[in-house]
Amino acid sequence: MKAYRNSSKWSGRLALLLAASILSAQPALAQDTAALTPHQQLARDIYRDVIAFRTARGQQQVPAMVAYLVDRFKKAGFSDEDIQVTDYDSEGEKTQGLMVTYRAKPGSTDKPIVLLGHMDVVDALAKDWVRPPFTLTEEEGYFFGRGTDDNKYGITNLTATFLRLKQEGWQPSRDLVLVFSGDEETGMVSTKAQAKYVAENIDPEIILNSDAGGIALAEDGTPVAFRVQSAEKTFATYELTVTNPGGHSSRPRSDNAIYELAEVLGKIAAYQFPVRATDLTRSYFATAGKLTPGELGQAMLRFAADPTDASAIATLRANPETVGTLGTTCVATMLQAGHAENALPQSATATVNCRIFPGEGAAATEAKLKQAVGDDKVSFKLVTDVTESPESRLRDDVKAALRFSLDKRYPGMTILPYMESGGTDGMHYRTLGYDTVAISGAALKASDMFAHGLNERLPVASFYGGLDHWYWILKKLAE
Ligand SMILES: [Zn+2]
Repeated sequence: MKAYRNSSKWSGRLALLLAASILSAQPALAQDTAALTPHQQLARDIYRDVIAFRTARGQQQVPAMVAYLVDRFKKAGFSDEDIQVTDYDSEGEKTQGLMVTYRAKPGSTDKPIVLLGHMDVVDALAKDWVRPPFTLTEEEGYFFGRGTDDNKYGITNLTATFLRLKQEGWQPSRDLVLVFSGDEETGMVSTKAQAKYVAENIDPEIILNSDAGGIALAEDGTPVAFRVQSAEKTFATYELTVTNPGGHSSRPRSDNAIYELAEVLGKIAAYQFPVRATDLTRSYFATAGKLTPGELGQAMLRFAADPTDASAIATLRANPETVGTLGTTCVATMLQAGHAENALPQSATATVNCRIFPGEGAAATEAKLKQAVGDDKVSFKLVTDVTESPESRLRDDVKAALRFSLDKRYPGMTILPYMESGGTDGMHYRTLGYDTVAISGAALKASDMFAHGLNERLPVASFYGGLDHWYWILKKLAE
């Protein structure tokens, strides 16, 4: 792939013009910037600007955000050779991927480090939010906006760190490559292509993801542990459909597609997949249990000691923070039914999203769902590509660099590998055999987690507190 290849110089310029018009439309942001350092101000400005791009499916704004970032990197001294922009067709929508290489000093032999982030977001409707979702708003100690947590903090922090290191004239002992995807939340077409390119052309020693992990805060704000995402469950979505001959709504019958689907969903809601435990999830609970107060902490410890402990399982299953770590989960997320107000429905379809425990597989999961439903009239259709990914090792050098960076703000904090219930770009690098861990610099309470939801936020203190995170990690790994 040629350097700074863009489908045409013109589209790059057009994207930059679009970027400028999007940014100029932003209202002036109320700022409490009294004591900000130049680097903090730089990071805050980038954060404000990237959040202004509605990089959600159907909005075509990823290219504009790419053009904005490219402009930032170029102004900081990265050359055309260092920057690669690639167009992708993501399920009928144009998106882009961005790679930026921070070149090693001459004579370096160490293999590169790849740093992951995604530029796209789940969409947000202004009518449903308290504040405009695509305008960074600082209020009540929080930054509000779509992507403030997932994943525009990662994009901002990595970008600002590269600009800072470049400005300091630092030369790393190995190439550092930012790999920003453009459709992580949807088709992952850019991710898969980038992972393949990275394996074939870069073959890094280390891959670090900014899109998960980070500092877990207790509800009173006390820092508890640094979570390292070392494995993730498999994402799979099924459509369950019930059909019916239909008819005139003034002549209802006992058979009705919507009622039958409702019954099916009741069975799925009640179904619990078998409990699973691995060394990773048991060691996670064995450590997290010591750090978590009350009944939840006790249940974690008991489960770690004995994964068949029924009361521990019940407690952990009842908590959204822990239910995903016990096994596969499936949940109804969308419904579609009926074709006319005055007609009996001819079909009713539910979308059921599953997070499959490593090693279980999509086919076995579908078989268990079918068994739970126990009705041959219900048709099942797997509607997503399934990527099963293995667990990743937390390398000693990465752990040492993390330790070094963490000790600057949380001396001696516990480092806690865990299995993610959600999915990230990391899975596509793991399937290619790369140990890939996610180590975001963000600090969050469980009650601050609004990723994908309404009124997504990041504590202001967490934003500034994490700005040295990558700086020290990269200095340690590439000094
Ligand atoms: Zn994400």
